[in-house]
Amino acid sequence: MFFDVHKIRADFPILSREVHGHPLVYLDNAATTQKTRRVLEKITEVYTTANGNVHRGVHSLSQAATNLFEASRETVRRFINAASINEIVFTKGTTEAINLVASSFCSSQCGEGDEVLITAMEHHSNIVPWQLQRERMGIQLKVAPISPAGELLMGELEKLISGKTKLIAVTHVSNVLGTINPVGEIVKIARQHGVPVLIDAAQSVPHTRVDVQALDCDFLTFSAHKVYGPTGVGVLYAKEEWLNALPPYQGGGEMIESVTFEETTYNRSPFKFEAGTPDYVGIAAFGTALDYLTAIGLERIERYEKELLDYATERLLAIPGLRIIGTAKEKSSVVSFLVEGIHPYDLGTLLDGMGIAVRTGHHCAEPLMHTLGIDGTLRASFAFYNTREEVDRLAEGIERIVKMF
Ligand code: PMP
Repeated sequence: MFFDVHKIRADFPILSREVHGHPLVYLDNAATTQKTRRVLEKITEVYTTANGNVHRGVHSLSQAATNLFEASRETVRRFINAASINEIVFTKGTTEAINLVASSFCSSQCGEGDEVLITAMEHHSNIVPWQLQRERMGIQLKVAPISPAGELLMGELEKLISGKTKLIAVTHVSNVLGTINPVGEIVKIARQHGVPVLIDAAQSVPHTRVDVQALDCDFLTFSAHKVYGPTGVGVLYAKEEWLNALPPYQGGGEMIESVTFEETTYNRSPFKFEAGTPDYVGIAAFGTALDYLTAIGLERIERYEKELLDYATERLLAIPGLRIIGTAKEKSSVVSFLVEGIHPYDLGTLLDGMGIAVRTGHHCAEPLMHTLGIDGTLRASFAFYNTREEVDRLAEGIERIVKMF
């Protein structure tokens, strides 16, 4: 054991609740993660001691809230090793961050017929924003294929880069297959062709150390709620020169320097991209969540989760009729599977009756399901607060259901 998982579990109040009379087994961490008591307390603390709208006031509450908000920006910067806090834009999630880039990048950098290259394993939030730009700007969307195991075909990806490719937008970790894509290598290849890269890190930042300077990516996005922070908060990391070059995404307060009816000049980055009142309370608590992860250590988290993934894979594969979808060599702690003769929805519902939370369906990756020739999967996704005993409960639950059928 790399760390005391039971001590860690005690920090997450929800993990001690029961569901349908059984102790909760929460295995839907790829959808959203649970929060520590300290994160929950931070939200109450800000509302009870420091609630004032950020950046606008000279009064003490506004200054206190602004300090907390900007301290979180520094925490995020450190967490992903960005060169400057000016490169950290707060959004309401990965989805908004990708929409921001799609809108600002395509409107300023792309013309009719220019191409954006994605992969066959993208979440809808890294597909649909580009399709919107296809409608608006006439860009083309190219899709790099994957192998049956769920690994990106790197040779094919490189072949799809053309003189018209303006951006490569790729997920770091597939939320369905668990595949860890070689994003560092993708950036290197893209550089050789002079193409910038956006990394959707929604499923990697919670599980592994992500260093934007080491990756040398141009854009990187993730959501606080998947990193044990509050909902409604996300991050766009972008190299400062991009933020300076791109036009604003939304207009309103905060993002301006001066406004007349004739003309508006914009604030500097990152504020240029933060129109309106941000969720400064959630953002303060997000900093608390990241500090917690740093204190435990992402390397230890990664090692523990890898062990849990291996154990879960072994336990599940021993179940007759169970097939794992996504068998890449490099995998994060996500296991998608199907059980012969049992609809994923039925299996998911019966598991819920046993207090076990897994996700069923297409996981917001319908094109991937089409590629794989299936309608959906069951997905168990693990966090560092999950245990081998919980993996046993999942496996035993499925075994019981298989016998019932
Ligand atoms: N990308 C990936 C890979 C995801 O797994 C998710 C969430 N399931 C998203 C993007 C979207 O994140 P959010 O809904 O928090 O914006």
